[in-house]
Amino acid sequence: MRRGSALLLGLGLLLAAPAGAWPVHVVKHLCLRDALFMTELVKSRSVPLGCRVIDCCPGCPAGAPLDWRVRLEGRLVEGLSIRGLPAAAKHGGGATPIPDGVVVRGREGWLRQIPQSPGAVPLARLQLRLDPKVLAEIDAAGPAAPTEKVSIFVEQWLGNVLVNGIDFEFRLSKCSTPNTCDRIEQLNKQGGEPSAIALDGSRLLGCSEDVIYDVDGVAEVGDVRQWSTASSCNSEIGVYNESNAMELIHPETSWRNGCGDVVQADLDPILVAPVTIWKMGAVGSQVGENADEDLAYAMEVFRTNRSGISFDPKYAWGSDAGGALTALATACQLPFVQPSFYDSDRLNVYYLPSVVSVFLGDGFLRRTFGSLFEELEPTGISCGADRNIIIIGTDSNQATLAHEFGHAFSLHGGRDEWAHVNDLYPTFTDENVMWAGGPASRDVFTLGQSFRFNVNGISMLNENGVRTGQIERDCKPKDGTNPPNRKCPALDMDWR
Ligand SMILES: [Zn+2]
Repeated sequence: MRRGSALLLGLGLLLAAPAGAWPVHVVKHLCLRDALFMTELVKSRSVPLGCRVIDCCPGCPAGAPLDWRVRLEGRLVEGLSIRGLPAAAKHGGGATPIPDGVVVRGREGWLRQIPQSPGAVPLARLQLRLDPKVLAEIDAAGPAAPTEKVSIFVEQWLGNVLVNGIDFEFRLSKCSTPNTCDRIEQLNKQGGEPSAIALDGSRLLGCSEDVIYDVDGVAEVGDVRQWSTASSCNSEIGVYNESNAMELIHPETSWRNGCGDVVQADLDPILVAPVTIWKMGAVGSQVGENADEDLAYAMEVFRTNRSGISFDPKYAWGSDAGGALTALATACQLPFVQPSFYDSDRLNVYYLPSVVSVFLGDGFLRRTFGSLFEELEPTGISCGADRNIIIIGTDSNQATLAHEFGHAFSLHGGRDEWAHVNDLYPTFTDENVMWAGGPASRDVFTLGQSFRFNVNGISMLNENGVRTGQIERDCKPKDGTNPPNRKCPALDMDWR
């Protein structure tokens, strides 16, 4: 085992709860694979500076400098590095500046007077530094090593007012060795990145559901027992990777009692969704100037989250001819008013020459228009009447298009069910693309979301015939059935 002097663990933290709900408490389990001991761990993610919720600090002057108090608990934690924040005027406790940020050593550190500038939301990247001596102990103890708890508390203060904070807990343990018995093999896998394989099946002690294997090739899955209707277990395997379509297979009769069973997942090419991007302005004008970048970002997000979905764009210019813009932005009626600016059976994205709210005159679209529109952040719209229609305003950010694609691919409920993940489960943060009003850095879809993109009958992948001849379901974003619907994984199911 190779070891660095201080190991870094990237953290996904958020600071986005209303003041009344503070602190946000998030628990994450991680197992320490050998790779984790050797390398910088898990990608680093973003933490926004400031009070992210409008009016979460009534009476506070906007943009005043903030103080951060960071506390660390757990014997495995050596410190925390923070990068990407504007430089604090002073540091205290165990906090000291480094060339590109701040390191907090020991149990507590202060960053005082971090400037905020209007409009910009700086994103801090936090990385936990683990203690190599304790890591060596865990490694030596092997599977018998106890689970180590590490907690991070980040508070943001405006003077003596606490404006935001999070209590983030990691439970870290040594990974158990693979249980060689039955296995799942992947055929025709493209690309070198690992696949996430989600397994539902019968086990000696009952049904197991949504057990995730994050593997390059073969998944050693232990003893999956013979399936029978009497067992009432679901028997299903979902395979998700960056370069193939998401594959859902039913191996009921392939599993027998005892070891040695092999199930092969024969993977199909990635799904490619055709999309027409309409720039609703004069030819050559600046309307839709970010469309290329937005689409590239969306493709990257769908790829890296193993959704099995890519896009094939066509670009076209539209105009206000025949009242097209008004029809589009007031009632998603454009195909009836101006069919020459609409392509059937594919996604149509309309870049407006203005912000969406100019047309709507009301930021709270759901109240005004009910199920016609599906957006709390009036920077983009997915039309309820025709989910092939997406509208993007000039105040969108680079994640808005990916977010609207998520709505088109079935994360699109009724009037009070927005499929947004804000405050849905504590596992969701504003790193999730479906966090309404979230930052430009949103870049996560869970496997539970990708499952719905692919499998839900109302996903435009199925309605437009991009995905054909395969199982369809109707999995709500949040399954309220009791007992839970075994055919629908939880929205927050994921390999991370
Ligand atoms: Zn939305």
